[in-house]
Amino acid sequence: SEYLQRIAAARDSNIYISVFEQEALERARELDRKLENGEAPGRLFGLPMAIKDNISIKGAGLTCASKILQGYTAVYDATVISRLQDEDAVFLGKVNMDEFAMGSSNENSSFGPVSNPYDESKVPGGSSGGSAAAVAAGLAMVALGSDTGGSVRQPAGFCNVIGLKPTYGRISRYGLVAFGSSFDQIGVLASHAADAAEVLGVIAGYDECDSTSSHHDVGEYTALMKDVSFNGLRVGVPKEYFPESLNGEVKDVVRARLADMEAAGAELVEITLPESDYAIAAYYILTTAEASSNLARFDGARYGYRSEHAENLTDMYVNSRTEGFGDEVKRRIMLGTYVLSAGYYDTYYKKAQQVRRVFLDRYREALADVDIIAGPTSPFPPFGIGSKMDDPLEMYLADVFTVPASIAGIPALSVPAGFDSSGLPVGMQLIGNFFDEGRLLGVAGALQ
Ligand code: GLN
Repeated sequence: SEYLQRIAAARDSNIYISVFEQEALERARELDRKLENGEAPGRLFGLPMAIKDNISIKGAGLTCASKILQGYTAVYDATVISRLQDEDAVFLGKVNMDEFAMGSSNENSSFGPVSNPYDESKVPGGSSGGSAAAVAAGLAMVALGSDTGGSVRQPAGFCNVIGLKPTYGRISRYGLVAFGSSFDQIGVLASHAADAAEVLGVIAGYDECDSTSSHHDVGEYTALMKDVSFNGLRVGVPKEYFPESLNGEVKDVVRARLADMEAAGAELVEITLPESDYAIAAYYILTTAEASSNLARFDGARYGYRSEHAENLTDMYVNSRTEGFGDEVKRRIMLGTYVLSAGYYDTYYKKAQQVRRVFLDRYREALADVDIIAGPTSPFPPFGIGSKMDDPLEMYLADVFTVPASIAGIPALSVPAGFDSSGLPVGMQLIGNFFDEGRLLGVAGALQ
């Protein structure tokens, strides 16, 4: 009730796309009865959660913040949803995002922008802007987001919460609307690392409905967190993560946290990842290629919105997509179609795949020598609503530090690091080796 009241009082914040008022209360009562009947409570008993609106909950709307899914109701539960339900979590509603998870500011939403809870003139980050803002504003205790190139970590950094993108394959993508399938991972946003660890432990693990999900054992994350000590921890600090162009205050805040780690016994190791400059280009070629294929299913016939201005079938497809998709989504479908087309495939797509392989090798090599890699999550603090909307390339640069871990498929999180002189949050990113989520959460917890 308390969370629902807060959500109602904060309706103007535009954080929630839909609120499960009746369902959440009913569910809470059902859980109370369960206790009264002497049944054992689940691991997440009563945990009030917000779910990004690109994750399926049976019977609920599923919009991806796009007009093209207007009126669509999900017909099955995502695997993460059924696992959370089995452990007695409570869903408060679906939260705002950039359309189809494409963006870094939550401004590409057909439901309009969301404000940063720390300064309403600033963006909360994206694409999981609603998830991060919901946790920061106390409108959910934990939220699920999705991260293709930074969409959990960057908004977490902008809103002063923890945001974890696990190893590719750690969490089933069944029921997550696909953007770039070989990058997409569901992630967890929470105020405290320990809460993220609890939720990760429930939703991680093999799922026969997702052929890319991993059989790797799920860690006892809460116990693993306790094993982490700064003493002797080798922290790689890539010099490419502190370029000239990095915002000075972001640099100072992150450097101060690194110094704290050093004072607590960690060893800072300067490393170099010389290919870092190619990350954005490779990411935007590969993910737009995948998106152009994934989004072909939204044709006006199968889901949601259908244009009323069509005289024949082709017009119906074209007009539904023209009217249903926003500008950024159209831009990516066109880019992706271009890089996959005959004649350009070898020049762009194949090259980017080769760059991807180089990234994987480089990060593997680096992580053979250090335990984690640390640096800023974003090159700048939360920016003004509207300030980057006219310049997509400038917006893409927001992802410069987050896309490498997505390209390599390794886990990474953003942990609150402090504030700049205007009181805006600064996040620090920690990157780990495959399936080393426990260590990342442990370090984050110790820093909090
Ligand atoms: N900002 C990045 C993009 O626009 C990342 C998005 C994401 O991780 N879903 O593609």
